[in-house]
Amino acid sequence: MREIEHWIDGTARAGTSGRQLPVWDPATGEQQAYVVAATTAETAAAVASAKKAFPAWRAASLSRRAEVMFRFRELVDANRKEIASLVSAEHGKTVADAGGELARGLENIEFAAGAPHLLKGGYSEQASTGVDVYSIRQPLGVVAGITPFNFPAMVPMWMFCNALVCGNTFVLKPSEKDPSVSLLLADLLRQAGLPDGAFNVVQGDREAVEALIEHPDVQALSFVGSTPIARTIYENGTRAGKRVQALGGAKNHMVVLPDADIGSAADAAVSAGYGSAGERCMAVAVVVAVGASADPLVEAIKERVGRIAVGPASDPSAEMGPLISREHRDKVAGYLANAGAAEIVVDGRDAAVSDGPGFFLGASLVDKVPTDSPLYTDEIFGPVLSVVRVDTYEQALELVNSNEYGNGTAIFTRDGGAARQFQYDVVCGMVGVNVPVPVPVAYYSFGGWKSSLFGDLHMYGPEGLQFYTRSKVVTSRWPDPATSEIDLGFPKVR
Ligand code: NAD
Repeated sequence: MREIEHWIDGTARAGTSGRQLPVWDPATGEQQAYVVAATTAETAAAVASAKKAFPAWRAASLSRRAEVMFRFRELVDANRKEIASLVSAEHGKTVADAGGELARGLENIEFAAGAPHLLKGGYSEQASTGVDVYSIRQPLGVVAGITPFNFPAMVPMWMFCNALVCGNTFVLKPSEKDPSVSLLLADLLRQAGLPDGAFNVVQGDREAVEALIEHPDVQALSFVGSTPIARTIYENGTRAGKRVQALGGAKNHMVVLPDADIGSAADAAVSAGYGSAGERCMAVAVVVAVGASADPLVEAIKERVGRIAVGPASDPSAEMGPLISREHRDKVAGYLANAGAAEIVVDGRDAAVSDGPGFFLGASLVDKVPTDSPLYTDEIFGPVLSVVRVDTYEQALELVNSNEYGNGTAIFTRDGGAARQFQYDVVCGMVGVNVPVPVPVAYYSFGGWKSSLFGDLHMYGPEGLQFYTRSKVVTSRWPDPATSEIDLGFPKVR
């Protein structure tokens, strides 16, 4: 069986721990490969390699670093098909969906290639007599990224493109569930001219992550994953003196006002609820149907759910693939088994595909979900769309704002004033107005509020560059013996 190796110092390296973690084919339920979980010593070797590469990479000119990003962009673009197929084979999402993930990743490379413009500092001439003051931004050193299974290509790109162009070196710990694409990206970075050691990959799980948190040479940690792990990484990382941004889980609400176009809202709810089998942190998990919108909306969603083609990525007509693992599939199905007072309108467990050997579960729609039901309170991360009915806009807003998570939300309405009020009132990091999955473009930054993000800075875009650099302010005077004097007072500028 194939081992998916580590990537240290510009080359693939077999693991030594003997602790194998399986990589499944979610469409067949068969194991297709494994990673050997990195030990603390292997993780330290990756950090040492990144540390060794840092001075030269930092000293490379901004144009040179941007050029590597530009070349990397061309290589990723030229290898789109191969990368998307690899993502599909291990994650299970359709090839078209994997292509979409890659397209959003490419945006991040493009942003990084243009980043020198945003790394310019400020300059104040004559801040005092003969004194100039200026600020510069410098890289942190070795930084690490820990990424989730659901976007094995895009989320690492959210991190390492900006980190590298700023002059840092990087250690990636990808999800052990779909790790192959990390090696392909490492090789493309090498082909793009990135020096050996500037980008490393350690495969594994908690042990490797803890080694990164504890390692004194790791200056910063970027994490994307579930909320409990994000919270722990933030707490432990900051306690270890590191800069940390830790993005967590979500429960995204889509509010539909009575004046919304019901057909468009139903299209959006189905696309955003079941795309990638609901395994997106920006998936719509809850439709909040306001007033008279509820009956026609549930009917329209139900009709569309019945038409979703579920199947393996190898079937070009498939629109939704399997879940990532058997345990996860069974956990998601468990929410339907315990639906309680909620009304199951479409039960994905009844779909023929749910009985096969792969980790499939048909799309499910549950109406009249009580807000104390686990269907509402938990991040299910699967193809289960819940509908909560409320009477007024105010009740809808209160529901969104009192939720533990604050990643994304959307409002569907024809009333511009209502949409503007929602944007003003809602306690959430990313808001869509008639847009169900409002993932910001690469030149803005991505991040939720509340339990969806721990840390101060959002990911990628301008805040990403800020995260991966620190500012230094220089106060400078060219010596002028004619005006030199002793003055023990505190420096004044007037
Ligand atoms: P996860 O939290 O299980 O794993 C994320 C990473 O943490 C993986 O690399 C994993 O190996 C590592 N990890 C797992 N357990 C650990 C532990 N005890 N100690 C240290 N490291 C550990 O998440 P997942 O299942 O891979 O991904 C799905 C989750 O990610 C969902 O909750 C989803 O909402 C979230 N997510 C959030 C965003 C966002 O931008 N906010 C984006 C994508 C996914």
